[in-house]
Amino acid sequence: MCRVVDLQQAVLAKNDGLAASLREDLMDRGVTAVNLLSSPGSGKTALLELLLTWATERGIPVAAITADLATENDAVRLARSGALVKQVLTGGLCHLEADQVRAHLDGWLPDGTRVLFVENVGNLVCPASYDLGETLRVVLMSVTEGEDKPVKYPTAFGLANLVVLSKTDLAEAVGFDEKEFAANIGRINPGVEVLRTSARTGQGVETVLNRVLAACDGSPPHRPPLAGAHSHGHVHEHMTASEPAS
Ligand code: MG
Repeated sequence: MCRVVDLQQAVLAKNDGLAASLREDLMDRGVTAVNLLSSPGSGKTALLELLLTWATERGIPVAAITADLATENDAVRLARSGALVKQVLTGGLCHLEADQVRAHLDGWLPDGTRVLFVENVGNLVCPASYDLGETLRVVLMSVTEGEDKPVKYPTAFGLANLVVLSKTDLAEAVGFDEKEFAANIGRINPGVEVLRTSARTGQGVETVLNRVLAACDGSPPHRPPLAGAHSHGHVHEHMTASEPAS
């Protein structure tokens, strides 16, 4: 077991190093990277389509890569915004890693891009431990998922620079308890901003875009207290098929 944990730590440490150098390179190019993370069906693609559309309409150069296990559905949806979009198929892997992101950006990301959105694979476990070189990690959760998700997935929510509560138009119908949710978030990531959004009504989407643009302009994002969490016992349990077990 110790050996497995050592191997996981080594994989994560290598990814951390690659992510740090990617972040530096992107920042040198003036690109702010946003890692969008949530469970499947929380509305990452719906939110991203609106963010890309609004940014494009305002003349802000944005691009997105979207990861999926098997389909290109999300890239097709996102391309309707007019922004530059690339689909990444992970071939069954449940998360993205920094070297994959770098490889996909090489020769593709135009100079002058201000924001690069990375839609991670829908999953609150594996992607949480992998830094992708982002400046801003945005974790989404829909009101239909239940108020306890932050405490059930402390690494994902604990490392968020910004939390987006989605599908708020359904909050009343599903009896979502905002107070309990706020208390749970407060326990895991004190001080993190929570933005309420609805892709259906457009509520809160412009605020999300404004927070992202503020990060581009150098306003420091909220720094979660769990930074470096995976070196302090929050190691996720997943091993990818491509990692040798010896
Ligand atoms: Mg999606």
